[in-house]
Amino acid sequence: MDFGLTQEQQILRRSAREFLEAECPTSLVREAEESGEGHAPDLWRKMAGLGWLGIALPEKYGGTGGSLTGQTVLFEEIGRALTPGPLLTSILAAQVVLNAGDDRQKDHLLPGVVSGDLILTLARGDKLETASRDGGLTGGSTGNISVRTGDRFLMTPTGSSLGRLDADRLTLLDAAGNHLDGDPPTKESVLHLAMYGRRPDAQAVIHLHSTHAVAVSCLDDIDPADVLPPITAYYVMRVGVLPLVPFYPPGDGGLAHAVGRLAAEHHAVLLAHHGPVVAANSLAAAVDAVEELEETARLYLLLRGHGYNTLTDDQVRQLRSQ
Ligand code: ZN
Repeated sequence: MDFGLTQEQQILRRSAREFLEAECPTSLVREAEESGEGHAPDLWRKMAGLGWLGIALPEKYGGTGGSLTGQTVLFEEIGRALTPGPLLTSILAAQVVLNAGDDRQKDHLLPGVVSGDLILTLARGDKLETASRDGGLTGGSTGNISVRTGDRFLMTPTGSSLGRLDADRLTLLDAAGNHLDGDPPTKESVLHLAMYGRRPDAQAVIHLHSTHAVAVSCLDDIDPADVLPPITAYYVMRVGVLPLVPFYPPGDGGLAHAVGRLAAEHHAVLLAHHGPVVAANSLAAAVDAVEELEETARLYLLLRGHGYNTLTDDQVRQLRSQ
């Protein structure tokens, strides 16, 4: 195996060294240090022009998608010249967006990082605030949220309130549900694992005891194959068909099994006398879907007793094909 640098990497090293010798002399480093900002905006723009800020990002976002060795060569020269500026933190934070963000966040943030117009940094949050708290979607310590991280799952722990979460205490589980780290898991973790098990693309699952959805699940005249009528476009697009899962007592193994049976076909299900479980390909999409579900359940309860129209079959088909 050849551990030497390729010709391209040698050129990168030479050009980086020459550029930094010319543009980043000791006087500039001292100036940036003494300014208190530790940053040289002109140099930053020139580095963006050379494509350095996008060296670890795919071409799709304007990056050059360079190899890890290429990045190492570049950072060696950047370190050698004591280059001032938040290069490492911005590139690392961009990797967090690239690997954990949804499409909207990537499209919104990454091209700006590459062009040098946007500088990102990493931050550690002690408390996670969620839309569910402000939206009053689930009370007390009920409801739980999870995300897929590779072949493991991060989940809100047992007894936690979604409005007051501590990032260090989130439960880490493997695919079999074994507790690897953080606080003990909720016994409802099996609902999440049942969804992930049947939906390989699912990146996030939310389960709530949201009032209106629970109320609808108790009605005696709903269609268990599809509980809510198609009354708004966003409900059709974000939730679609919502089957009812029969009632099981808390902790009963039959509940996860019943969810799993429906999960291959449905990303959202409603547990009778209990609440919805929704999976999506990002946490933001799961929040949107579960909020839409709850709002539609509320609308449906408002409409009961009145004559009302639903969207037509044609309109529903058209929305689903989008
Ligand atoms: Zn529950």
